[in-house]
Amino acid sequence: YYSLGPKVADWDVQMRAWRSLHEPHQEPRILIVTGSSSTPCNNPVGDHLLLKSIKNKMDYARLHDLQLYYSMVELDNQLVGFWSKLPLLRKLMLTHPDIEFLWWIDSAAIFTDMAFEVPIGKYEGFNLILHGWEHEVYEKKAWVGLNTGSFILRNCQWSLDLLDAWATMGPKGKVRQDMGSILSEALDGRPPFEADDQSALIYLLITQREVWGNKVFLENAYYLHGYWASIVERYEDLMRFSNNGYGDDRWPFVTHFVGCEPCGNHADYSKQRCLREMERAFNFGDNQVLEIYGFTHESLSSSTVKRTERHSAHYPWLSNDNQMHPNLTS
Ligand code: UDP
Repeated sequence: YYSLGPKVADWDVQMRAWRSLHEPHQEPRILIVTGSSSTPCNNPVGDHLLLKSIKNKMDYARLHDLQLYYSMVELDNQLVGFWSKLPLLRKLMLTHPDIEFLWWIDSAAIFTDMAFEVPIGKYEGFNLILHGWEHEVYEKKAWVGLNTGSFILRNCQWSLDLLDAWATMGPKGKVRQDMGSILSEALDGRPPFEADDQSALIYLLITQREVWGNKVFLENAYYLHGYWASIVERYEDLMRFSNNGYGDDRWPFVTHFVGCEPCGNHADYSKQRCLREMERAFNFGDNQVLEIYGFTHESLSSSTVKRTERHSAHYPWLSNDNQMHPNLTS
């Protein structure tokens, strides 16, 4: 059957050998991995949103000293589209033995808590961390019991083996079509369509729980992924009554536009609503970046900024900046 590549069986040993020859580092190294299609969007607004989406990730990565890899190619002619993250993650693992965790994040997901950090120490003994709920996955077999739009994968042999098992359901064409019917049959609430990586992972977990389950952490203490429709309307209230750094309901870490395609190809929601809310999510995150420089968006729907007064406390040498440009002062 289909294979991601030649079997690598002793990765833990090889990786340890590599690491022992190189400078050790204190903090575990994390690589954020994301990407988008190699071809332009049909709609230029989509490409502009993808640009905002990568800026959002660059900002988050810089603020937290994480590395970032952006892919715009298909590494495999069978695992294309939403499956392309699998061959990419495999290749990045094998070529970056220094990286301890790879963190896949969809282009349709926006960091909305710029201060929150993933509690990586909590995941000792686990190799795959996703947002989700045990009972939704294992009891209800819900196809939205976990989300593969933002997940963290430890660089180790187990993860290579998981990718191998996972990938068998993804080759485009007949396998993906046939597997789609099996998945819709097996999973609660899944509409009929070709096999997707999220359903396939849930299927793997429920059919082979004893093989994979004990290394998978389903996280719901904060929004490693957060469903956008229940978040976007709260941004103004959050700005008024809360502050960043929580990552949970008090200030969601990630707002993921499930069912909205930035490129606007086959969205489940109205294109206008998707675009409007993605823009707002981006600006909400961007405000937390601009704050450092003493600016904020005039509103979450506006790309124009105004000055804020608060910031000069941190930068006393900038205390005259506002007076120097009175025309920009709000
Ligand atoms: N993706 C990619 N190349 C492609 C298609 C998708 O890198 O040709 C990535 C992109 O980051 C996207 C994710 O895979 O967000 C999931 O794909 P999906 O088709 O579900 O896109 P979404 O609905 O998230 O826009």
